[in-house]
Amino acid sequence: MSTNSESPLDRLWKEYGSAFRDFDDLTLARWLAQTLGQLSGRAWRLSHPLLGAYRLAAQLAHERQIWLKRFATPPAAYREAPCCRAPLLPLFTRDVLDSGLICQHCSDTCVPFEEIPAELQEEVRSWAQEYSPLHAIAHWDDAQRQGAADYDRKLDESADDVEGLLAVAGKRIVPRFLEHYPAVVWEDQDECLEVRPEDIEL
Ligand SMILES: [Zn+2]
Repeated sequence: MSTNSESPLDRLWKEYGSAFRDFDDLTLARWLAQTLGQLSGRAWRLSHPLLGAYRLAAQLAHERQIWLKRFATPPAAYREAPCCRAPLLPLFTRDVLDSGLICQHCSDTCVPFEEIPAELQEEVRSWAQEYSPLHAIAHWDDAQRQGAADYDRKLDESADDVEGLLAVAGKRIVPRFLEHYPAVVWEDQDECLEVRPEDIEL
């Protein structure tokens, strides 16, 4: 998803996140618990501003180990994530086969692919297997690019196909996770293919 080196965008988010640094532990825990209640029952785009705010607060809470200290009780529907014991709020990404679902608190795997509900695994697998070669085109080396008749066109076509696949994920696949998790997030962009959230219409 993102690289380790800090990009201008990372620095901007760090600046946004400073708003939460003024919250004391109790205030931060209550804000998170209340917001989890408001997130319940929906599949959320990763780009949604409410999710962006939640993620910033969640990462800070992870640093401060807020959930371990039990300052606030999250809504009962949220199970404890095995990775960091925060409430389980999984993120669905194109890397789902390798990385499973990702924790919004510690950014580690919170649900490995094998533990995704069995009735969803096949659909998720075929979606990811269709996505992967399209995404790979953005990472072709020079030799591969020169070998294509018209690389730019191929790249555009891949981006169009990925827009379609992300719409399928957002409309059809991810909402089915709500039978198993109170809320779920999906990555609604592909930065390598320059597919932006606004390109994906639901
Ligand atoms: Zn975690």
